[in-house]
This record gives sequence, C-alpha cells and structure tokens, in this order.
Amino acid sequence: MITLQDCLARDAADPLRTLRELFSIPPGVIYLDGNSLGAMPKAAPARAAEVVTREWGHDLIRSWNTAGWHSLPQRLGNQLAPLIGAAADEVVVTDSTSINLFKVLSAALSMAAQDTPQRKLVVSERSNFPTDLYIAEGLCRERGYTLQLVESDEIAAALTPQVAVLVLTHVNYRTGAMHDMAGVTAAAHAVGARVVWDLAHSAGAVPVDLQGANADFAVGCGYKYLNGGPGAPAFVWVHPRHTDRFWQPLSGWWGHAAPFAFTPGYEPAAGITRYLCGTPPIVSLSLLECGLDAFAAAQPLGGMAALRAKSLALTDLFMALVEQRCAGHDLGLATPRAHHQRGSQVSLTRESANGESGAFAIVQALIARGVVGDFRAGDGHRHPDILRFGFTPLYLGFADVWTAVDQLHQVLHSGEWQAAQFRQQHAVT
Ligand SMILES: *Cc1c(COP(=O)(O)O)cnc(C)c1O
Repeated sequence: MITLQDCLARDAADPLRTLRELFSIPPGVIYLDGNSLGAMPKAAPARAAEVVTREWGHDLIRSWNTAGWHSLPQRLGNQLAPLIGAAADEVVVTDSTSINLFKVLSAALSMAAQDTPQRKLVVSERSNFPTDLYIAEGLCRERGYTLQLVESDEIAAALTPQVAVLVLTHVNYRTGAMHDMAGVTAAAHAVGARVVWDLAHSAGAVPVDLQGANADFAVGCGYKYLNGGPGAPAFVWVHPRHTDRFWQPLSGWWGHAAPFAFTPGYEPAAGITRYLCGTPPIVSLSLLECGLDAFAAAQPLGGMAALRAKSLALTDLFMALVEQRCAGHDLGLATPRAHHQRGSQVSLTRESANGESGAFAIVQALIARGVVGDFRAGDGHRHPDILRFGFTPLYLGFADVWTAVDQLHQVLHSGEWQAAQFRQQHAVT
C-alpha cells in the first residue's frame, strides 16, 4: 500500500516543488483540470494591472512602440518555440486554436491543390476534438474535399495516395492517448500527404519536437497547460519549407509585409508573421507571458524533460492508487499505460449494469469536495463516458494525488454521488 507519508516524502525530495509557488491555487482545492483551463500564475494580476493602468491608461497609444505591444505575438512565439521543438521566428501567438487550424488547413489544401490536384481526401480521427472536425468539415465542403473519419487504429490503413492532408491531435482530449508524431508524420509523407498537428494537450504537457518529427503544420492552445488564462490566444507553427508558399486565407493587415504603409494591395509578410490577421489582444497576450515565464523558471531545474518525468510519476501514482483504493467500484482505465503512448492526463471509465456510468455525478461530487476534474460524455458504444483528470507537474505534488484518490474512494464508498444535486448539468462541463 502506498501511504500519504510516502507521498509527502516524495514531495519533500522533489526539485520541481518550488514551482508551485508561482501559481495561485485556492486552499482546499486539488486542481486536476489544468488540461482544460490552467491555473493562474501569481504574477498575472499585477501584469494585467500594469498593462491596463500604465501601458494603456497612462502611455496610451505610445505603448504599441514603447511597451513593445506590436511584436508581442512574435516574442511570445519565440518564448514558446523551445517547448514544441520549433526554431526562433517560426511561431506566432494569435487568434484561437480553431481559427489557426482554419488557416493552416487552408494553406495545406492550397499546397495539395497545386502539387497533387487529384487527391481529394482529408483524414482525421473520429475521436478528435470536435472543433477540429467542424473546421475540417467546413473547409472540405468549401474546397471540394471529402473528410474521412477513422478510429485511431485505422489511421495507418487510411493513408493512401488519395489523401491530401491528415489532421490529428497529438494527445487525445478524452483518453490522453498520444500519437507517435515522428512515426505518423513519416507514414503520411511516405504516401505524399501532409500533416496538421493540434498540440492543444501537448504544449507544456509533454516534450514536443516538431522539427525533429519533420512536421508540416501545428497549432495549439494557450489556456490549457500553458496557463495563459481563459480564452488566451493560441499559437501556430508552419515548417519554414512551407511558410512562404501560400497566403493563409485570413489575409488581414497584421499579416501584411508593411501594415503601416496602408497600401490597398495585400502583400504577405515573409515567414510566420503572415499567419497573423488583425490587431492582437494585448491584455490576454500579456497574461500568457506569465504562463510562459513559469516554463522559463523550470528551465534551470531540467525544463520540459524534468516536467515530463514528474508528470509520468504523478500519473503512474494516480493509476496505482486508484487500483489500490478504488477496487470493486467498476472503474476502468481509458488511458494507455505505456509512457510513450500517453500525455499528462488519466481518464477513467465506469461500467454499470443499467447503462448509466455515473461518471458525471461522480465528478460533480468530487468537485464539491475540492478535487476538480471534469467529465466528457461518451457516444454510447465505442467511446465511453470519461472521468478526466489532468496533471500539471508545475503545481501538483504527490500528496495532492494521494488526497485526490482518497476523496474519490470516499465518494464511491459512501455512494454520495447518487444524490440529486450531482446530476445537474451546467452549460460548460
Ligand atoms: C481545447 C482544444 C481546442 C480549443 O479550440 P478553441 O478555438 O480555443 O476553442 C481545439 N482543439 C483541441 C484538440 C483542443 O483540445
């Protein structure tokens, strides 16, 4: 049996332990939802106040130059680049993941239309995050492509010479299963297809090597593991061999070669700057900088590699404790056990005789006890209901994991989750 004392000893010996001081976690809360909305860096309120009160309130429009507002999308992109295996000046922080996906998939389709016009398929996973599928569906309709959805284990077989673009999310949002980015990219390239990777559940959670994988396009999220705050801008990366080949379709003035020349004709900026569209949201970008600063603080402690090792230790511990303490409550594991096949979350399932998993109510009962995870609905057959727990090694410790599983044990053992109050659905789950 793993004891709370064992976990406290591991925390005491953890060289990353100090990083949690950079974050504000309310007392009594064990936050296992950083994969959906990262926790607030303690530096964020003062940074927001500085941007609003001094840069905006006092310096007014001069701040575009004096505070460097105008280059914030590129500067944050450069700060983020090492976390995803990109080089300097290859990433910009801008817009949302959905919008950036629209831009890169459009560019990928434009390239395919020129290079291989007979190819008419876009392939993705049926269990991909819905917005990725919706954006792909919309673009396919508009551009005369067919969107083919397959299960994860059918991707290799779906890669035929008819495929123009493969659109995948690196770490699955429901199960936490992680694709072999280099292997899948190589398989797609072998049939002449290009790959768009969504790193929403990877950036800041697992080491990513876009250059090493020879990837084509990538997008990702600022408000999950990067802790940029609600609705934080997303990021976009394009391999330099592709960047200057096509305009992205949202050819706004911030992507222009000389926006303040105010010329009537569009001329795209060189490089990744052409993936900008309109005036950037400076307050939101500034908050994301606080999130990225936490990764800079982790750098002397071993950086992403050390964070990954701790994330795997935390998730291994969670799995082991669930097995030890919650046996007999019909829980199953939806996340692969092998380290190289999973991200930084653990997803549980629950079987039940009457077909109702209880997953939603169990998560609500846990939240009432201060253990914040979330619920993702299944489709009733191949993909079951999920109790989802994200582990952010920047601010979680081993004793937190122990306490979370202890609370899960109590929720299940007491049956309290069956109370009516835990069945009420909210607009956002
Ligand atoms: C969270 C998430 C998104 C979010 O997209 P928004 O445009 O920020 O709403 C997109 N794709 C994946 C895979 C995600 O996990």
